[in-house]
Amino acid sequence: MTAKLFALLGSPVEHSMSPLMHNRAFNRLNLPHRYHAFDVEPDKLGEAVESLKVLGVAGWNVTVPHKVSIMEHLDEIDEEAEKIGAVNTVVNENGRLFGSNTDGQGYLDSLLDETGPALKEMRVLIIGAGGAARAVTTVLSRFGVKEIVVTNRTYEKAEAISHICTSNTEVKPMKREETEAEAASRFDLLINTTSIGMSPRIDDMPFPIENIREGAMVSDLIYNPLKTKWLRECEKRGVAIHNGLGMFVGQGARSFERWVNVLPDVQEMKRDVLAQLGG
Ligand code: NAP
Repeated sequence: MTAKLFALLGSPVEHSMSPLMHNRAFNRLNLPHRYHAFDVEPDKLGEAVESLKVLGVAGWNVTVPHKVSIMEHLDEIDEEAEKIGAVNTVVNENGRLFGSNTDGQGYLDSLLDETGPALKEMRVLIIGAGGAARAVTTVLSRFGVKEIVVTNRTYEKAEAISHICTSNTEVKPMKREETEAEAASRFDLLINTTSIGMSPRIDDMPFPIENIREGAMVSDLIYNPLKTKWLRECEKRGVAIHNGLGMFVGQGARSFERWVNVLPDVQEMKRDVLAQLGG
C-alpha cells in the first residue's frame, strides 16, 4: 500500500494531540500513513493549501484560526459544513478538495456514549454561540432532542444560530440574564461551548451553577484541563459531568474515516490522548 501524508493546519499547533492520536491509529491498523501538524499564519493559508496539493497530501484537518477561511480554497463543501459555516476536515481527491465538518458528529457520538437513548428526552441549554456551538447545535437539532436554547454574551450570535438550525428540534435564543435567573433549573443538559475555563482562564466559570438542578448533566467542550472548574464545582453538587475529550477524539475518528474509509477504535484513541495529557 502507498504511504499517504495527512496534516493539520492551524496556528498555534505545537500542543496539538492530533498527530499523536492519528499516527498511533495508523500504526494500530498497520497503515503506512503519517500525520503532521503545520503552523500556518492566517495570511499564508492559500499558499499552504496550494503546497499541500502539489505535494499530494491526501487530506487534512483545519483548526483555529482557519476553519472559516479554508472554505474559499475548497472545490466542494458538504451541506452540514455549509450550514455550520466552518470546515475541519478536507479530503484531497486527485487535486479536488472536499470539505466537511466532523466536530458536531464527534460531539454527538461522545455524548450518546454517556447518555444513551435518554438524550432524546433532554432539554438542552447551549452556552456560547461561536463555531463549536454552531456545530453542536446543528447535530443536536437534527438528532431531535426535546428542546434547545442558546444563550451567549453577544445575543445576536445566538439568534443567528436559531436561523441555521431548522431540523427536528427548533432552536430558541435567550438573553443571558433571563437564562441565568429563571431558566437554568429546567434544563437536563447544559453545554459550555465557550473558551471560559481553558488555560489561561482556568479559574473562571462560563455559567452560574446555583440554579442547575441535581440530576442534570453538564458538558464542557474543553478537554485541557480535563476537568474545568465548572465541571468540578458541578460535580460537587451531584451533577453528572462530561468533558470535551470524547468530542476531540470523536471528531478525529470521523476525519480518519473520511480519509481511509475505516473508523478507528475510538476507545484506544482516547486512551492514547489521555495518557499524553496525564489523565
Ligand atoms: P469561537 O468561535 O471563538 O467562539 C467562542 C465563544 O465563547 C463565543 O460564543 C464567545 O462569545 C464566547 N466567549 C469567549 N470569551 C468569553 C467571555 N469572556 N465571556 C463570555 N463569553 C465568551 O470558538 P469555538 O471554535 O467555538 O471554540 C469554543 C471552545 O470550544 C474552545 O474552548 C475550544 O477549545 C472548544 N472546542 C473543543 C473541541 C473539542 O474537540 N473538544 C472542538 C472545537 C472547539 P461572543 O460571541 O460574545 O464573543
